[in-house]
Amino acid sequence: MIIAGCGPTGAMLAAELRLHDVRVLVLEKETEPASFVRIVGLHIRSIELMAMRGLLERILERGRRRPAGAYFAAIDKPAPEGLDSAHACLLGIPQPVIVHLLEKHAITLGAQVRHGCAVADLQQDDDGVTVVLADGEQLRASYLVGCDGGRSTVRKLLGVGFPGEPSRTETLMGEMKAGAPPEEIAAKVAEVRQTHHTFTFAPFGEEVYRVIIPAAEVGDRAEPPTLDDFQQQLRTIAGTDFGVHSARWLSRFGDATRLAERYRVGRVLLAGDAAHIHPPAGGQGLNLGVQDAFNLGWKLAAQIRGWAPETLLDTYQAERHPVAADVLDNTRAQVQLSSAEPGPQAVRRLLAELMDFDEVNRHLVEKITAIGIRYDFGAGPDLLGRRLRDIDVKQGRLYDLLHRGRGLLLDRTERLTVGGWSDRVDYLGDPTAALDAPCVLLRPDGHVAWIGDDQHDLDDHLARWFGRPADSEPRARTGHFGRSPKRP
Ligand SMILES: Cc1cc2nc3c(=O)[nH]c(=O)nc-3n(C[C@H](O)[C@H](O)[C@H](O)COP(=O)(O)OP(=O)(O)OC[C@H]3O[C@@H](n4cnc5c(N)ncnc54)[C@H](O)[C@@H]3O)c2cc1C
Repeated sequence: MIIAGCGPTGAMLAAELRLHDVRVLVLEKETEPASFVRIVGLHIRSIELMAMRGLLERILERGRRRPAGAYFAAIDKPAPEGLDSAHACLLGIPQPVIVHLLEKHAITLGAQVRHGCAVADLQQDDDGVTVVLADGEQLRASYLVGCDGGRSTVRKLLGVGFPGEPSRTETLMGEMKAGAPPEEIAAKVAEVRQTHHTFTFAPFGEEVYRVIIPAAEVGDRAEPPTLDDFQQQLRTIAGTDFGVHSARWLSRFGDATRLAERYRVGRVLLAGDAAHIHPPAGGQGLNLGVQDAFNLGWKLAAQIRGWAPETLLDTYQAERHPVAADVLDNTRAQVQLSSAEPGPQAVRRLLAELMDFDEVNRHLVEKITAIGIRYDFGAGPDLLGRRLRDIDVKQGRLYDLLHRGRGLLLDRTERLTVGGWSDRVDYLGDPTAALDAPCVLLRPDGHVAWIGDDQHDLDDHLARWFGRPADSEPRARTGHFGRSPKRP
């Protein structure tokens, strides 16, 4: 199995596949990490994923924890009380640190990563995919996943449409020193931010400032901006260039918004920015990509290992495409709300008032942090299709039991069994679990696949998500966290 691209999406996917013993080769075009350091925000659901795979401590110690809230169009409201998560914070962390951590995690689990290898062509047939590298080398794999970013070669080679809007505005971003006194800068920045809500001129240690400012026009993305571009825009927008000099790095990004028409063509799939791009409003892109990988990993592993039910792999697109469409929409809305024009400013003021209502604020926070996602698993209680929060169980924390990326039956009745699925699904009998249901079946991504207390109904749902049972009797007690009685 080959993954094109070792960004956050590709690295996470590689690790997920390795949990199921799938041989994985990741091909990464670049030999070195990016020269600019993008500080990204990891939202609640992504932090939860890290907890579910034993990476929580490592990621928390490398980031800066901030209270959850103020995500939507940077409207400054605290998060509502009692968010439904044991990990309710925003983690500011440099993107290269996340990539490094996930890549190391994947390699530790047995993935092979080759840097300096660009995918240039592909052909697929009924048995597999031939991947051609830029130097002409050919590799063969059962499946290929394009995690190769917004300008994805894999997506273009597949001919998958990428409809949406091109960049209409651009933003300059960089780090540089300033000659003006800090108090003067702080006062001016506060004034400018009254109307230019995304304008940033913030101290970043060692006399350096992080600068984010609208560009004069949409330029050539291949050409990095110059310090002169920043000086001119600072003078236009702030009335002064603060005497900026000695740039560390300069970059630019646009607001193109596009969504791939399909996430799968035969044996080739797309994930992360290769499947969707949007402006960074609310800081969601990396989160979305990592969560795509988390959704896809176990399904693709099941397909390759031969136990996947027929339609399982296609649930990847069915579940994740609408989630991306929703993210694209909320970033479109946030971009409008950040405009300095009087109309959007008025709508922004109105929304800020509405966000004082708990339900409105909660809805927006759950949307941006992705803890509000509910996949359509059919009719059932509200919890069905949602992820289960990290609750207390008698062995400690629920997410600690999910490190191996297997399904889990959480059984408060202690009457049910995972039977012939015990090689794919763990069992936890726990009458003390803080759960509003007798039993829940969790998929490897922590989403609730079934709620109930009837063994036959459970067996149907085990078959729906985990294929045919290996045998009809309970097998090895590996992956057994409690007492599982014999099948009645
Ligand atoms: C200014 C800015 C701020 C942002 N802030 C946030 C934030 O706070 N939170 C957030 O969640 N997101 C944020 N994002 C978005 C986030 O950076 C992206 O969504 C994320 O990088 C996508 O990850 P990816 O792995 O899908 O793609 P990428 O990170 O683009 O990785 C793709 C990888 O594929 C490699 N590659 C490309 N072509 C090939 C090829 N042909 N063969 C092999 N390898 C190839 C590339 O070298 C790269 O390593 C921000 C983006 C910007 C521009």
